[in-house]
Amino acid sequence: MKKNLTILLLFIALFALNASTDIILAPPKWKVLIIDGQNNHKWAITTPIMKRYLEETGLFKIDVLTTPPKDSSLDQFLPSFKGYDVVLSNYNGKSWPRQTELALEKFVSKGGGLVIIHAADNSFPYWKAYNEMIGLGGWEKRTEKDGPYVYYNDKDELIRDNTPGPGGHHGSQHEFVIKTRMQEHPIMKGLPEEWLHTKDELYDLMRGPAVNMNILATAFSSKDQKGTGRHEPSVLTLQYGKGKIFHNMMGHEDYSMHCVGFITLLQRGTEWVASGKVTQTVPEDFPTKEKSVSRSGK
Ligand code: ZN
Repeated sequence: MKKNLTILLLFIALFALNASTDIILAPPKWKVLIIDGQNNHKWAITTPIMKRYLEETGLFKIDVLTTPPKDSSLDQFLPSFKGYDVVLSNYNGKSWPRQTELALEKFVSKGGGLVIIHAADNSFPYWKAYNEMIGLGGWEKRTEKDGPYVYYNDKDELIRDNTPGPGGHHGSQHEFVIKTRMQEHPIMKGLPEEWLHTKDELYDLMRGPAVNMNILATAFSSKDQKGTGRHEPSVLTLQYGKGKIFHNMMGHEDYSMHCVGFITLLQRGTEWVASGKVTQTVPEDFPTKEKSVSRSGK
């Protein structure tokens, strides 16, 4: 009897060992290149946060490419995107060499994925293809020449507004409700219709070509917080050639990125641009309309 028990325990141990070995050995499916190095935000803090949350899924292998600083020449910034499935931009700085711009255009148009986080949509106002890829951008002298304002009104009508004026603005930082607009999109499936995001900047008055663009979620920019009184686009997807783009306007600071909603969107959006699918489930501690949830300190 004792011998049988020993054999049984041995089997259990071998099974457990095998199971854990499987987990360790399963290679990440998608290669992601995060670009940072210049940003009017704390990129040196936020890149490692995003890297960690993406790696935690086991789906992504991440490389980080840091450009030379602002006071240096970027003439030799000539990266190759070959071998990557996704480029994630945490970059808001000096212009890139034309050769690098063309390389990214080619990468995306041939089917590569692009993820745009927060102030990355401030950069490159003059670069036509980039603005088509991000759909909506702000600041850097953007005006009506760059495209309409796009938002939902209180009747849930989608408005494209060509009124002249500057592009890009935000009110006070605060916690705000994110409202899902495309429940059936793979990135949004299973998320609550409304949930409370941790403290962040709520971008409004964004302008851009806004073509081949889906608005997955909006945030109400309250006049009490010095906003527009409109439902402003917050989470977008776009198509550029054969490539997919995920554009999340949230993510001003580390505390904005530790939001379980932000993390979930980052992980799912990155998988979606890589594969057109989302295999990840929604975490059980996902925020509700009343309560934000932060992984800060965990
Ligand atoms: Zn910001």
